[in-house]
Amino acid sequence: MLLIYCPYCQEERSELEFRGAGDAHIARPQNIASISDEEFEEYFFLRDNPKGLIFERWRHMHGCGRFFNAARDTVSDKFIMTYKAGEPKPHIGAASVPHIPVETYEALEGEAK
Ligand SMILES: [Zn+2]
Repeated sequence: MLLIYCPYCQEERSELEFRGAGDAHIARPQNIASISDEEFEEYFFLRDNPKGLIFERWRHMHGCGRFFNAARDTVSDKFIMTYKAGEPKPHIGAASVPHIPVETYEALEGEAK
């Protein structure tokens, strides 16, 4: 079972207590009423969905109930770190993301050839 560290409760808890809440550090436009439909679409709907390091909002639903941010590796599903909402985005380089071999569809497909 995946354990997630809540920066408010200051302990690791079961993933079952948490819920993902989308990308972190999405800046709301200063004057949202004056932006174009395309700019609103980009702000509200479009996300990068990168392979590897991602910064996300999470909520400790069945614990303290608070929102916090997490840096997570989407390949290995490992949480690199969590931090309180409102804290600046940490500087995490690719070297900080632990390389953990994961059986991926691409790898399996490569072996089949
Ligand atoms: Zn908590």
